[in-house]
Amino acid sequence: MLEESRPDAPDGRRGGGGCQFGLISGGPGCGLPGEVRILGFILCPGHASRLYLEDRIASLRAVMLQLGLCIEAGERGKLSGTETARLRARRERARARLEAAEKARRGLEMDRDPESR
Ligand SMILES: [Zn+2]
Repeated sequence: MLEESRPDAPDGRRGGGGCQFGLISGGPGCGLPGEVRILGFILCPGHASRLYLEDRIASLRAVMLQLGLCIEAGERGKLSGTETARLRARRERARARLEAAEKARRGLEMDRDPESR
């Protein structure tokens, strides 16, 4: 998971610089004040939320993949039926969290670009 903190400038202002999302994306910066530090970058709240959700979605996809491989092994007789059923339940919970994270990311995209609704 991403480390997050809220940096304050030496003069007490929150942030102290512009959002650095452009350094991550390779595109232009958004021009908003940076307020949240994640992975050494200072980001505006919108880009911090987007990066957090991207990280969460990637993590949950990895969990889904790993659980799928374990379930396949269980279906080949490597695990008991109870263990395999437990893994299927875990995968369903991970799927629900992944769908919620993807929905939240789509919400951020719509907030940013009302024309895409
Ligand atoms: Zn930004």
